Amino acid sequence: MGQNDGDRRYRERMERKKAVVDRSIARATRQQGVLLVLTGNGKGKSSSAFGMVARALGHCMQVGVAQFIKGCPDTGEERFFSRQPGVFWHLLGEGFTWETQDRERDRAVARKGWGIAREMLGDPSLDMVVLDELTYPLGYGWLDLEDVLEDLRGRPPMQHVIVTGRGAPQGLCDAADTVTEMRDAKHAFRAGIGALPGIDY
Ligand code: ATP
Ligand code: MG
Repeated sequence: MGQNDGDRRYRERMERKKAVVDRSIARATRQQGVLLVLTGNGKGKSSSAFGMVARALGHCMQVGVAQFIKGCPDTGEERFFSRQPGVFWHLLGEGFTWETQDRERDRAVARKGWGIAREMLGDPSLDMVVLDELTYPLGYGWLDLEDVLEDLRGRPPMQHVIVTGRGAPQGLCDAADTVTEMRDAKHAFRAGIGALPGIDY
């Protein structure tokens, strides 16, 4: 097979690929608010959500963020984004406690937090809402999935919602338009490297 043959085949392969890609682009004409779920045990769920917040702000969109579990008291994302115009940042998980094991109290804190999330889902001026670590209050049964789904369904039609957290319930994934499951192939923490600013928080 000569060089020219190889070039021709390459060109034909690329032409076929381009035709396939062009056809799918031509089909994807709808514009609507989407629900994204970023789940799984691998690293990258919250940081992916905050990457989309940066994109949205680049388009002068308004963004609401609710963090349901506060793992780290002082994250880089909160420091940076909460002082950007167009960002409304809510920490909802500060009242959760592992110490009292008081289910009713945790449930009340989660409900109060969902009240704030709900207001954001009812606010058409918000183009994007991030519900960071929402899967945990759902998983512990502090929030009812059906109530959450109902509020998600009732949101403004162009509003995007991003939910993060491990173990997303099936009902939430079924309702979502995009679901990404981060797979944990390797994590520095298991090799004894502690949480790093800029990487982990
Ligand atoms: P990130 O915020 O870095 O995108 P995440 O949202 O996917 O992480 P979480 O379950 O919310 O993951 O955990 C938050 C913290 O735990 C981060 O500091 C992250 O680096 C760390 N982490 C995430 N996945 C793992 C893992 N598989 N093993 C150890 N630590 C992890
Ligand atoms: Mg996270």
